[in-house]
Amino acid sequence: MIGETLTLQSLSKRFGRTVAVEDVSFNIAPGEFVSVLGPSGSGKTTLLTMIAGFEAPSSGQISIGGRDVTAAAPNRRNIGMVFQKYALFPHMTVHQNVAFPLRMRRFDRPAIKDRVRRILDLVQLVGFDDRYPNQLSGGQQQRVAVARALVCEPPVLLMDEPLGALDKNLREAMQLEIKRIQSKLGATVVYVTHDQDEAMTLSDRVAVMSGGTLVQLGSPVEIYHRPQSPFVAQFVGKMNFVDGECQRDEAGTCHIRISDSITVAASSPSSDGADRLQQGQRVKLAVRPESLSFAQPDSATAIPGHIDAEIFVGAFRLYLVRLATIGQPIVQIQLPASTSVGPFRRGESVGLHAAKEDFHVFAAPEA
Ligand code: ATP
Repeated sequence: MIGETLTLQSLSKRFGRTVAVEDVSFNIAPGEFVSVLGPSGSGKTTLLTMIAGFEAPSSGQISIGGRDVTAAAPNRRNIGMVFQKYALFPHMTVHQNVAFPLRMRRFDRPAIKDRVRRILDLVQLVGFDDRYPNQLSGGQQQRVAVARALVCEPPVLLMDEPLGALDKNLREAMQLEIKRIQSKLGATVVYVTHDQDEAMTLSDRVAVMSGGTLVQLGSPVEIYHRPQSPFVAQFVGKMNFVDGECQRDEAGTCHIRISDSITVAASSPSSDGADRLQQGQRVKLAVRPESLSFAQPDSATAIPGHIDAEIFVGAFRLYLVRLATIGQPIVQIQLPASTSVGPFRRGESVGLHAAKEDFHVFAAPEA
């Protein structure tokens, strides 16, 4: 199976006054795995149902393999779909469920037998052919649903929270399974989830949505390390935010004042100087808990604070630090569990440090 290109151009959907999806455009390469990630109500499912053909867009265009399918019926789009509710036919065996799409397309008996055997082998369900859905675990049912969606070898596979009903361990096992099957088959996948870890684990690229718009599209590394907005920064992974004011922005470095006596050096948000920050401009300084480390409280480059709590979280230790600067929130620092730092007394003075490139600077919205 070879995946095909999927192109969305200025796709929008309105339900009465509600704008569910607004002006979304992107291009997915053949065989690419793209997750659509966003909070509840951000338009993920609406986007997917338009690609599938169950909802007509209010405007915009959808192409698969260079063919405009915007007005094509769902069964004419050559798309496989897997939903959160597996939607298996309860009165049919595993074999009959998986064979169903082939029978609808009038494949002959030997071809059906051969394809069902191959796809059940791929999802590791050989020997389960004669079971009914209620005789399977949740993960097995989900694998039958994946097999049924893939048996016609669709070049594009759409998945809407397919693992949402599974518990954490099974969910993580199935993520790897889906990735394995997809990379073996080479199908183009669009995968809707509100789980950031799932999106990061599975995807070549992640499309982050908020309020119906596509706010960032990039590789998991880009989304995590170069978020383009405070929304993406806080939605993907943990992020500390501290208010500040730009002192100067030159030669790729911003100097951000967070109190009368403390100024932090951060990488400039504009690499080419195009939208350089103005002196005195209000900003949000963002830094991930794992990018911070402890320094001497009196060091010139450290941000001073006091330990509020120290928490053991298994794989790592989390420290909550109250900054010495009045009005700033409590900051989280994450160190490996094996760290030799600490233990600290509550209230003990500490300094915080991060590399210049680990501080992100966002212009604060006008008050
Ligand atoms: P969730 O993660 O909760 O499933 P989502 O990101 O998939 O959310 P959508 O289901 O696409 O979001 O909904 C986007 C917006 O469109 C929401 O405000 C929702 O209330 C609205 N909406 C979706 N379907 C309809 C409909 N059939 N009629 C009216 N409004 C709708």
